[in-house]
Amino acid sequence: MKVSGIVELSTIDYPKHASAVVFLAECNMYCGYCQNYEFITKNISEMSAKEVFESMDLMFADALVISGGEPTLQPEAVKELCKLAKEKNFPVKLDTNGTNPEVIKKLVSEKLIDYVALDVKCSFEKYGQITGYTTKINEKILEIISACKKEGIFIECRTTFIPGLMDKLDITEISKTVKDCDLYSIQKYDSEHAHSEEMQKIKPLSDVEMMELGKIAKEHVKNVIVRTFVNEISIK
Ligand code: SF4
Repeated sequence: MKVSGIVELSTIDYPKHASAVVFLAECNMYCGYCQNYEFITKNISEMSAKEVFESMDLMFADALVISGGEPTLQPEAVKELCKLAKEKNFPVKLDTNGTNPEVIKKLVSEKLIDYVALDVKCSFEKYGQITGYTTKINEKILEIISACKKEGIFIECRTTFIPGLMDKLDITEISKTVKDCDLYSIQKYDSEHAHSEEMQKIKPLSDVEMMELGKIAKEHVKNVIVRTFVNEISIK
C-alpha cells in the first residue's frame, strides 16, 4: 500500500481512545486549504499492511485510525489493515471525503470499521470550486450515512468552515442533509497550513462566530460540536 505517514500514538484522532494513525497517500480531491497536500502526494512509501501495523506503538495504542489523503482509493489496503486491527480487538476509525460509498458500505457490512468521520466540505453547488470534485457527491454522502446508521456504525460528519467561500447558508444546507448522523462537527479554518497561497490569506472566524454556526446546525442535527484550535465545544 502507499503510505505517507504513521503516527504511533495520538490522543486526539479517535475520541476516548489512544490511537495509532496511518495516513494513506493520494487524494481524488484538490482542496486549496488542504494541510497535507504536499505530504500525501510527494511523501509516499510502499509498505505491506503488516509492516504498517508493526511500526505502530501497540503497547499503548488501543485503536486504529485510517486517514489520508483519501483511504478509500486503496480499498484492499484498508481492508487488510482493518483485519489486522480486528485481530487485536482494536476499534477502527476511517476518515473519508465521501467519494467512494461502495468501499465504505463493504467495510461497514463486514463489521471491519467502528467509526466513520465523513468530510462534508461545503454546500453541494460549491464542491467543484472548493474541492475540484463534483460527481454525485450529495448522493454519495447520503449513501454513507444511511449505510452506517443501518449497521449501527458511528457516523460523524464534519465541515471546515472557510470564511469568504462559505456562509451560514452552507451550514444550513449541510446540516439539513446530514441530519441523521450521530455527530456533526464544524471546524475552524486553519489558514496557516493551507496549501494554496491565496487561501493562506483568509482569516478564520472568531470562536463566538463559530458558536453561532453551531447553533444554526443544531436546528437540524441532534448532536453538534464546534472545534476551535484549542477547544471542542458541544452546542446545547
Ligand atoms: S479531501 Fe482532504 S486530503 Fe484530499 S485534498 Fe481535500 S483536504 Fe486534502
